[in-house]
Amino acid sequence: MIPRETFDRGRYSNRVFSGSLSALWKQNCSGEFECESSAPGRINLIGEHTDYNQGFVFPAAISRRTRGLFRISTRMNLYSNPIGPAANLQNFDNIPTRGWTRYVAACAHAIRDELNAFPPLLEGVLDSDLPSGSGLSSSAALEICLISAWNALCKFNLTPEKIAEIAWIAETRYVGVNCGKMDQLAVACGKRAHAMFIDTRSLQFEHVPIPAGIALVVLDTCKSRALAASAYNERVAQCRSAAETLGKTSLRDATLHELESARKRGMDETVYKRARHVITENERVLQFRVALQEADFKKIGELCRQSHESLRNDYNVSSPELDAMARSAWNAPGCIAARLTGAGFGGCCVALVHSDKFKNFERSVKASYGMYAFPVPAIWRVDADDGAKAFLR
Ligand code: ADP
Ligand code: MG
Repeated sequence: MIPRETFDRGRYSNRVFSGSLSALWKQNCSGEFECESSAPGRINLIGEHTDYNQGFVFPAAISRRTRGLFRISTRMNLYSNPIGPAANLQNFDNIPTRGWTRYVAACAHAIRDELNAFPPLLEGVLDSDLPSGSGLSSSAALEICLISAWNALCKFNLTPEKIAEIAWIAETRYVGVNCGKMDQLAVACGKRAHAMFIDTRSLQFEHVPIPAGIALVVLDTCKSRALAASAYNERVAQCRSAAETLGKTSLRDATLHELESARKRGMDETVYKRARHVITENERVLQFRVALQEADFKKIGELCRQSHESLRNDYNVSSPELDAMARSAWNAPGCIAARLTGAGFGGCCVALVHSDKFKNFERSVKASYGMYAFPVPAIWRVDADDGAKAFLR
């Protein structure tokens, strides 16, 4: 089989686990597995591009997961269904620049940085029902599934927060995406039936129950993200530049008033717009937290719509597909709120929908999105789920 960099996402989105992991193990590994590990993907309800600005975010771990079986071995032998084997990874001397192998090596290096020694070589198989490259954080799920397995096998006694930290080091220092800590914290520390309000400065978080009767819906445009990594890092740099101009450590501490004054003094217009998104988005997350606790659906809907529009107009990370999807959702029966989720540039929208109206909602979105000449989307319900888990056999 030729290893593929990305999944065939159109089919993959609707995919369920095809066979058992133990059958995969028998086909690809020797001996008996010693550890079973899994990590969820995540959606973000609101608070986009705020986590690398020390701001607020509101993600939830979801009931689609990356799972694996592992054992300590004298050679590296990992196989991920349906992508294929982790190529060219005999040891951790080098970090490949392409393919999923780089995530494995990145995790090993991050563990070395934090625990002063490389983890042992692993034999294992992975499977996932998470689409990859869709903004649902399949990369963090992969990293945290692996680190959790090493944690259990080597009895490192790492807390979920520490596992999140190591995965973040892997992604930023060794994969090269300058992301904040939201994805890793949500994937490691999520809780069933709850979303998470996270202050990414203190890294304190609170689990907030999702009111009964609300369905969480992922609306996958099945459109790959183009130039996502470089465009993402460019946004990070623009935010740094804005904070510097405003004399702040991060945009978390900036006010709209200060920003407007800087604009009058000649701040670059693009940098101004990026900062305006971050400052207003932080405020929306705080309001969303109250609205969710009060089950104020009207307010939740307004905030998510404003968030999407700010991401489109000020942050410039939406796409024609995401805009069409959000519009289709806003007009559909039973919709409480919808917006793009994750970094943008393609990928998914998330919607909060009255559970009893889900079927009508789905039908309506498919019909109105179908009017555009875009690829067929994938629409699925998810539950808010627990974070990563690993068990020794
Ligand atoms: P996202 O995290 O939004 O899904 P990324 O581009 O950050 O998108 O990460 C996607 C990459 O992560 C894939 O191209 C692949 O290299 C790797 N990946 C994710 N899940 C798996 C998996 N189950 N098995 C192997 N590689 C995976
Ligand atoms: Mg990712």
